[in-house]
Amino acid sequence: PFDVLVIGGGPAGVAGAIYAARKGIRTGIAAERLGGQVLDTMGIENLISVPYTEGPKLATAMETHIKEYDIDVMNLQTAAKLVPAKEEGGLHEVVLENGAGLKTRSLILAPGARWRQMGVPGEEEYRNKGVAYCPHCDGPLFKGKRVAVIGGGNSGVEAAIDLAGLVAHVTLIEFDTQLRADAVLQNKLRSLSNVDIITSAMTTEVLGDGAKVKGLTYKNRNTDDVHEVALEGIFVQIGLVPNTEWLRGSIELTERGEIVTDMRGQTSLPGVFAAGDATTTPYKQIVISMGEGAKAALSAFDYLIRLAPA
Ligand code: FAD
Repeated sequence: PFDVLVIGGGPAGVAGAIYAARKGIRTGIAAERLGGQVLDTMGIENLISVPYTEGPKLATAMETHIKEYDIDVMNLQTAAKLVPAKEEGGLHEVVLENGAGLKTRSLILAPGARWRQMGVPGEEEYRNKGVAYCPHCDGPLFKGKRVAVIGGGNSGVEAAIDLAGLVAHVTLIEFDTQLRADAVLQNKLRSLSNVDIITSAMTTEVLGDGAKVKGLTYKNRNTDDVHEVALEGIFVQIGLVPNTEWLRGSIELTERGEIVTDMRGQTSLPGVFAAGDATTTPYKQIVISMGEGAKAALSAFDYLIRLAPA
């Protein structure tokens, strides 16, 4: 069995595996796609000490770093089920989609998350060419330009307030008849002079010139009229979905599917830790995921040295 098995090969999982291996313990990492969301990212400007890099470059660097250590790397492997240890201190088992079972004394879950997409024409085509999902990451790219934020929940309204300080103009588009964000956020948003709020609106298409976004169309849900908004950027803020469907029933998740962790990355199961975008940790970012992954590995090591010898 492994001492530490990591599920997920994004920034959180890779950091966890490296920190574990550096303790000289048997470490494995299984990932559907080594690199994770980073592979879908273009420019990265907020990985501290690296002023600029690109997603695929960072993913390659993470892989190179992993290979410096004696880590059993199982890429292109999807976990399908977690079978918790029968007794405290026992072995946990992760069953892969191919049927294989991996046994481990401690486990780090880092399966990440995916942004919910609008599913309208043009969205996929103009991803990273004006269609963005992360205001902390891509906001500064739209300095002085016009953008829309899709979604009037807390994340959408926070994004609109954040962007209003950077860009020329923000149009916030909400499907429902009213915004769903906390009242304080709504009040703040309404106090800003360069923000328009459109409710009862369904985004129907992302428009572009082949190279980049030029605007969007939305349908007024009361009248069915279709309107066009000219702009350079669209931030989709309709939810971040954790990749935790396979963990349902075996470990405590929030209503939204996030793995509940404490300050040390400990989950509801002894010996099982979690890190990154799949957890309740606030702010989903690369540096934060790396830090949380490192922390989970140190917590796992702490757990292991307190176990009775195997
Ligand atoms: P992920 O990167 O999501 O990795 C999850 C890993 O788990 C992957 O390897 C995946 O294949 C694997 N996995 C999932 N389910 C399973 C399973 N059942 N079995 C096995 N493996 C599984 N952050 C920044 O800090 N700066 C940026 O500029 C930035 N730009 C972004 C741009 C885009 C377009 C996107 C989508 C995100 C961006 N982010 C950025 C956010 C950042 O990518 C995430 O916060 C970070 O990747 C989270 O790391 P993670 O390891 O928790 O999860």
